[in-house]
Amino acid sequence: MAGPNYVCPKCGFNLRPPHLRREGKPYFLCPSCNEKLRVSVAYRRFLLFGGIVISVALPFVLGIRDVLTFVVVAMLAFFPVGFLLPFLLRSIYPARFEPYSPEFIKKGLF
Ligand SMILES: [Zn+2]
Repeated sequence: MAGPNYVCPKCGFNLRPPHLRREGKPYFLCPSCNEKLRVSVAYRRFLLFGGIVISVALPFVLGIRDVLTFVVVAMLAFFPVGFLLPFLLRSIYPARFEPYSPEFIKKGLF
């Protein structure tokens, strides 16, 4: 099976997973055009939403009907689901990237 199809939104370079390491920074660099990139906000929202849906579905599928147990199982499930989901999804719906721009840094700061 082919690896995830990650593409630089600027130059179309085929990014490989080792290229995506951020090394503590909020972005990573495209090895082809040196653009600062990050996983798109829309994709991260999608992952979060998917993680919540699966976490809530899990105790339901397990047949848990006690409200407290249901909530506890859903909350506990969220962490492994949130961790595994990007790996499960990456061949079906690989992460999208967008240029990293520090839009939250106010002008005139320097
Ligand atoms: Zn690029």
